Amino acid sequence: MTSVRFRKLAVFGVGLIGGSFGLALKDARLVGKVAGIGRSRANLNRALEMGAIDEVAEQPALALADADLVLVAVPVRQMQAVFGAIAAHLAPDAVVTDAGSTKRDVIEAARVSLGNAFARFVPAHPIAGAERSGAEAASRDLYRNRTVVITPQAETDPQARARVEAAWSSCGARLVEMTAPHHDEVLAAISHLPHALAFALVDMIARRPDATELFAVAGAGFRDFTRIASSSPEMWRDICIANRDLVLRELRAFQSSLTALAGLLEHGDAAALERVFESARTARNAWLQNRG
Ligand code: NAD
Repeated sequence: MTSVRFRKLAVFGVGLIGGSFGLALKDARLVGKVAGIGRSRANLNRALEMGAIDEVAEQPALALADADLVLVAVPVRQMQAVFGAIAAHLAPDAVVTDAGSTKRDVIEAARVSLGNAFARFVPAHPIAGAERSGAEAASRDLYRNRTVVITPQAETDPQARARVEAAWSSCGARLVEMTAPHHDEVLAAISHLPHALAFALVDMIARRPDATELFAVAGAGFRDFTRIASSSPEMWRDICIANRDLVLRELRAFQSSLTALAGLLEHGDAAALERVFESARTARNAWLQNRG
């Protein structure tokens, strides 16, 4: 599809997202070699064994030597430190992308820290993931048929954008452009709120004196509703704090929905309750059908 090829990819944060990017780009033969840098040697060794990276770099300068593509895939509140550490070592032709789940804060961090290289930063968010973390969870197919949201800025160099888009496309992803504020609004509603709710529900149950019995009896419905509460607490702490204005707005809207639902129960209004459930079922089934 494209003649773009990269000499070397440097991945900062070789977890589920960074490891999957390395595997997918190598699978697509788009990249000569992949260097990984991270916090945990055991995780980086696992990434090496799996072939997600070809070498472990101890220092940003070593990871970036000759790298013409850089992915930053650390928790969003770590991004500024990473951008600060890489700015001075980027090759003149290197393009940078990220995978952060929030965009306003990550773009601001890059703007502050990358200096002139900010024009070669193409912000991205793959709407693909899982509740599992670390290189061990990485898969070459994670991005296949998934959406990657790109939130370019006025300064973004079109050539850098084309190269970064080619990289994400080669993973099998569809690209969609949004503004960063709109991205953060949309994701607050359909991703950040559900994660906060799942964590809150499991935490509430776990704190009850009869938690052992409740967990013993819990079945498929509980499992489905709470799957995402097995996600990385560090990652979700960062996302909720980074997007707190919009997550708070969604939480408050949800509180109103709960209050309305409680009102229906107080009044024993079975017909209205059924209308709410019916409308939700219809909307969810239509969503499932449209996704194919
Ligand atoms: P992960 O925990 O699997 O991997 C993150 C890796 O970054 C870990 O190996 C960690 O050791 C490393 N790391 C943390 N701080 C670092 C630092 N300062 N320098 C170098 N390495 C560091 O998490 P993930 O699921 O791969 O998420 C990575 C990014 O992708 C996050 O910004 C997250 O918001 C975003 N994202 C996650 C998902 C998902 O569903 N998991 C989906 C889309 C986007």
